[in-house]
Amino acid sequence: MKPLFALLALALPAAAAAQPAPAPSTAPRLTVVISIDQLSSDLWEQYRPTFRGGLARLSREGLAFDGYQAHAASETCPGHSTILTGAHPARTGIVANNWIDQRVARPKKEVYCAEDVTRTPASGYTVSLANLRVPTLGDRLKAARPASRVVSVAGKDRAAAMLGGRSADQVWWWSGGDFTSNLTARPAQAVARANAAIAQRLAQARPALVPPPHCESRARPITLPGGRVLNTNRFARAAGDNAAFRLSPEMDAATLALGAALADELELGRAPGRTDLLALGLSATDYIGHAYGSGGLETCLQLASLDRDLGDFLRHLDRTVGDYMVVLTADHGVLDVPERGTRPGARRIDPNLSVKALNEQVRVAVGATGPVLLGEGVGDLYVTANLTAATRDRVLAEAERRLRAHPDVHSVHRGTDIGRLPLPPAPASRWTVPQRLRASYDPARSGDLLVVLKEGIQPIAVPGPTYAATHGSVWDYDRRVPILFWRGAMGRGGGGEAMTVDIAPTLARLLAVPVPAGQMDGRALDLPPRNDIMRN
Ligand SMILES: [Zn+2]
Repeated sequence: MKPLFALLALALPAAAAAQPAPAPSTAPRLTVVISIDQLSSDLWEQYRPTFRGGLARLSREGLAFDGYQAHAASETCPGHSTILTGAHPARTGIVANNWIDQRVARPKKEVYCAEDVTRTPASGYTVSLANLRVPTLGDRLKAARPASRVVSVAGKDRAAAMLGGRSADQVWWWSGGDFTSNLTARPAQAVARANAAIAQRLAQARPALVPPPHCESRARPITLPGGRVLNTNRFARAAGDNAAFRLSPEMDAATLALGAALADELELGRAPGRTDLLALGLSATDYIGHAYGSGGLETCLQLASLDRDLGDFLRHLDRTVGDYMVVLTADHGVLDVPERGTRPGARRIDPNLSVKALNEQVRVAVGATGPVLLGEGVGDLYVTANLTAATRDRVLAEAERRLRAHPDVHSVHRGTDIGRLPLPPAPASRWTVPQRLRASYDPARSGDLLVVLKEGIQPIAVPGPTYAATHGSVWDYDRRVPILFWRGAMGRGGGGEAMTVDIAPTLARLLAVPVPAGQMDGRALDLPPRNDIMRN
């Protein structure tokens, strides 16, 4: 007897009269886009010689570009929003992980990039793409060729959502105890199986990792203000410790395993004439970098583990798919903890340079009775909406004056001035600070004042238990990321400078996915023709 679903599917009328064109014969049957969260170009270049597994293979055989997440807001959500839309955050609308919107009809005015403010549950948020203003490559692929399959898996909900898009077949992220989704209409069986296997793994304790020799040399303890010691965590984990699982190489191993299982179940890359897309957001490098900084033993162990696990993942695709393409990139870079002393002049931000302190100083100066400035941190500052035009002007002027006098501040810009600039053209390496700000500016979502800290200022004043180093600046340590295309050996040398917004137009051209002129900010990069690739 046929399952009910098969009978229902047979009874449905054909979706469209015209048959969509099959994928071109030159297109790979599967494109795998991997974003390694927080993998700066600095880290990539530093660790390249140490890779032996999947990262070594991609690095040795792929075509590498000098890549930029070109915009100023070097955070996870904006960064992931650029990778498969071909658009800067100014166009995707994802200008930060969180922004302030004083018009939302709820007490909390902070908006999360991947939520729907019209569907706020009693606690937390509903994962949604309501804030994303453009389609992803997966959306365009499904529109052009509905038989194509699009899958997105990540450690973070915002990464999975922004890479996948609205019409992805499967979108999954780690909830803290298992992979979950409210964006997947028909969950694949692979997810339940993967969650069961992970639960079994989690229930067992894990011994410490044995560092390879190049990591052992980084095991010199460093004490942070507050007493935490870096370079000593080898990721031993107690049975059932969910938090330690996420903050370890196991997180990416689980994401890769689920990606492979979904590829198997949905038969990604295995149907002639079809081209499929698998997006993977590998989040552990970011969690580990935030907790321990990026320059020590912990990141070294993470990258060595990821290199090995990615090698297993690629071998699985070798066996099951054959001809597939990999694009490797990152959502942003990172600035290491200043206590490591590797960057001359680096220091933590003055604890007094806070929104709270600035708000109080400016409030007193202008004689206001209530709050005058809002913001998540010194970066985007918003003037409260209830002030008169005259008071608003005085708040802006007073905040600017105080910020500009501070030794940690590079420059202060009015949002209205940045919004008047045109979107800058490539190359991103030559962009001025205002141009970088422009690429992640939206008049309805960005701050009234945009504060740029000096290069080397670590925005975390006092390190916390899992938060010692971060990113988010306009500077190149946060903007420069690897962009690498691999489809077997692709010849030697680098491909020059590129932006992450170039990835989607490049893939759209390769997969023959139509993109109306003017809808993307990037350009299609030149990849070697298929014959050259296949000869190797
Ligand atoms: Zn990130």
